[in-house]
Amino acid sequence: MFGAARRITALTGAGVSTASGIPDFRGPNGVWTRNPQAQRLSDIESYLGDPEVRRQAWQNRARHPAWSAEPNAAHRAFADLAGSGRLGVLLTQNIDELHQRAGLPGEKVLELHGSMFGTVCMDCGSTGSMKAALERVAEGDEDPPCRACGGILKSTTVSFGQALDPEVVREGRRAALDCDLFLAAGTSLTVYPAAGFAELAAKAGADLVICNAEPTPYDDLAAAVLRGPLIEVLPELAAVASDDSQRP
Ligand code: NAD
Ligand code: ZN
Repeated sequence: MFGAARRITALTGAGVSTASGIPDFRGPNGVWTRNPQAQRLSDIESYLGDPEVRRQAWQNRARHPAWSAEPNAAHRAFADLAGSGRLGVLLTQNIDELHQRAGLPGEKVLELHGSMFGTVCMDCGSTGSMKAALERVAEGDEDPPCRACGGILKSTTVSFGQALDPEVVREGRRAALDCDLFLAAGTSLTVYPAAGFAELAAKAGADLVICNAEPTPYDDLAAAVLRGPLIEVLPELAAVASDDSQRP
């Protein structure tokens, strides 16, 4: 099935980055599994309404493991799949940019939940770099305001309660409908609309392949479910696709 797939759409989640030292949210060592209170920091209403939540969010951002993380074999497998011409689009819920750093061309990556390396003003929309904002935090400005209008600054990530970019959602839906195999990897398939893309693809006739250590709500819809570690499973799948693409 995998070797025969001509056009793959992939959806990834936090599980592809755990081997790079970035914990997921809902796995056994997940940030929310260990501390359910932490979810409040990802809620847009708390962020906008409570300066203490913002101070905590900037501190957490500064300590985020993604600053020193390196892409792993799972990220590289997607770059290889693209290299063998099989991968159309990769939708990711991750905000760590490790797919791009592993060599997957930026135009193939659709960041459903944004990136943690940028900032945006919630009032005037002006954008900046996270590095620059964190330098202000390190200099003592615990909740740095927008330099243009004094508004509240936030990372360019999508918090709970915030809408996804409608153009990104449209492209995601198009990619889910325009594939013969939909590969969901390292995601609990519990956050929408991301999880809905897997269902949409399967119902439109694509083979759904789920690679995840724990069960997901869509396992019954899947043509195959692989539970092994992603740094092993994904390179194996990429190798099957590449062998097949070299056949005459
Ligand atoms: P999740 O935490 O809900 O699910 C991750 C899944 O990956 C779990 O079911 C876990 O069993 C599985 N998993 C973890 N490590 C694995 C491994 N090595 N091999 C196989 N399976 C493994 O994550 P989600 O579905 O992406 O949803 C969480 C939300 O959190 C998303 O919205 C995302 O934006 C955000 N998030 C991003 C990052 C990141 O950028 N790296 C990290 C944490 C959370
Ligand atoms: Zn502003």
